[in-house]
Amino acid sequence: MRQIVDGVFEVGIGFVHAHLVVTDDGVILVDTGLAGRTAALAAALQETRRTVGDITAILLTHWHFDHTGGLAELRRGSGARVVAHHLDTPTIDGTRPAALTRLQRLLSVVLKPAEPAPVDVALTVDGPTPIPGFTAVHTPGHTAGHVSYLLDRAGGVLFAGDAASGGSRVRRPLGLMTEDRARSEESLRRLAGLSFGTVVFGHGKAVTSGGADSFRALVG
Ligand SMILES: [Zn+2]
Ligand SMILES: [Zn+2]
Repeated sequence: MRQIVDGVFEVGIGFVHAHLVVTDDGVILVDTGLAGRTAALAAALQETRRTVGDITAILLTHWHFDHTGGLAELRRGSGARVVAHHLDTPTIDGTRPAALTRLQRLLSVVLKPAEPAPVDVALTVDGPTPIPGFTAVHTPGHTAGHVSYLLDRAGGVLFAGDAASGGSRVRRPLGLMTEDRARSEESLRRLAGLSFGTVVFGHGKAVTSGGADSFRALVG
């Protein structure tokens, strides 16, 4: 576990990150990592002297199984409110079968499907979410209902999910996993127009300064 800014922690779960945000009103979790791997999150919570029961909300960036794998178990263990975009909600709650790309079908050997779980708040518009401090920004392309979250803390922290990948600079998301590359590109431009210093990603190292600038450099 790594603290990115005050009270925002990145937890590596295999090849994906989930993020914990400690607030006065409990812990907010952004994405849940792989199925069967919630012990990593429980251990990270313990380091902050908290437990799964302290999670009050789970914000999902998109339905992919590496982000929703732990959802059902964590929701049961915490009673947390689950927030996702309404366009990805049917895949998350199991009312629509997941539309897997060829690569995802190949990966399904190692990547267990997520157990479906109810979504309590299905986002239909951008702007403030019911979770204080978090603003939703619809960033479709990687999936139709991909949403990024902007946290009003430490100059702005963007939870980019898989709208982009991290590293020494911001990169485009993995093309083979992305449903609509043209829309994904539009979403990158949209993020480049916002104001935030820090960016955390589902995959790749967090960018801890000049966050929005690095999106601008990417989209030119
Ligand atoms: Zn994804
Ligand atoms: Zn991912």
